[in-house]
Amino acid sequence: MTTSMQAAVLETRGRHGLRVRDFPRPVPAAGEALLRVHAAGLNRVDLYMRDNGQGITHALPIVQGVEAAGVVAEAPAGSGLRVGQKAVLYSNAVCGHCRFCRAGDQPLCLRADIMGEHRHGGFAEHVAMPVHCFFPLPDDADLVGAGALMTGHLTAWRMVFGKRALRAGETVLIVGIGSGVAVACLQLALMAGARAIVTSSSDTKIARALELGASAGVNYRREKVSARVLELTGGEGVDMVLESSGQDSWSESLKSLRRGGRLVTCGATTGSNPGADLQRMFIRQLEVYGSTGGSFEEFRQVVALFARGAIKPVIDRGFPLARVTEAMDALGRSEQFGKLVVTVP
Ligand SMILES: [Zn+2]
Repeated sequence: MTTSMQAAVLETRGRHGLRVRDFPRPVPAAGEALLRVHAAGLNRVDLYMRDNGQGITHALPIVQGVEAAGVVAEAPAGSGLRVGQKAVLYSNAVCGHCRFCRAGDQPLCLRADIMGEHRHGGFAEHVAMPVHCFFPLPDDADLVGAGALMTGHLTAWRMVFGKRALRAGETVLIVGIGSGVAVACLQLALMAGARAIVTSSSDTKIARALELGASAGVNYRREKVSARVLELTGGEGVDMVLESSGQDSWSESLKSLRRGGRLVTCGATTGSNPGADLQRMFIRQLEVYGSTGGSFEEFRQVVALFARGAIKPVIDRGFPLARVTEAMDALGRSEQFGKLVVTVP
C-alpha cells in the first residue's frame, strides 16, 4: 500500500521554499475522511502563506492549498460517504462546539483549522478532513469547477446574500473585476437580478465582465470611479459596493455609495488602513461590514446550485501540480479573469 504522495510542500518562506515532492499520505484521524484531490483553486492567501504567513498559526513543512475537490478515497463507516463518490471540501475544519458553530455561523468559529493554513491542504494527491466538511457532488460534476467553488463562490455568496442581501433591481459596484471572488460576485449579483458596474485597470477584463452581463465598466487608471458611478446612477450612487482591494480603492468605493448604501469587504490586497471618512459615513448613514467565507448552510446552497449547473465558476487556466510555482507566479501578476486552478493528475 502506498504511504506517500506527491504534494506541494512549503518548507521555508519564499518562492523557492515551495517544492513538489514526496510527502507522507495523510492518515485520517477519527471522524475524518480522505479525498483523492483532482483540482484545487489557487488563492491570494496561498501567496501570503508562502511568502509571509504572519498571523497564521502553523508549523512548516505544510502542504499548501486552501480548497479542493475530488473523489472520496477513504471514509469511516456510518459517515454517509461512499468511496469513489465525487465531493468538494468545506475547507475549514471548525470545532463544532463554540457559540458561533452552535449558531450555524461557522466562519466565526473560535477554533477553526483551515486546510493549507493551519493543517495540510489541497495541493496534493490526498487530503484528510473531518467528515462533515465533505459535500457530495453528482457523478457528472465538473471537478475543476468544484475545486474553485469554496473560496470564490462561497465568499461571494455571503457578501452578496449575507447580512444585507443584494436585491433585484439594485445596483452594485464590484471593485477589481478579474479576481476569483470578484467574478463570482458578478455572477451572483446578476443571478439576484441586480445591475452590476465593475472596475478594473484592464480594458480586457472589463470587456470580459461586460460579456458576462455587467452593465458598465470603469477603468480606474483613466477615470475617477466615483464620478463615473454617479454619472451611471443618475447622481445617486450604488446601493452596494463589493470590495476586496482595500486601501487603494476604499475612498472611491465609499464615494460611490448612495445615501444609506452598504459596503462589504472581504480583502485588503492593496493595504489594510485606508482613511475612514467618518463624516461621510455618518452623514450619509453608510454601512460598512466585513465578510469572510460562509457557513455550512451557505455552502450547501452554493453546492446545490453548482450541482445543477446554475453556478459555474469562471476558470482562467489550469496548471498541473508539478507546475504550482508557475501558477503562483501567474496569480502574483493578477492577469487572470476568474480562477486559476491546480489539477492533480
Ligand atoms: Zn467553533
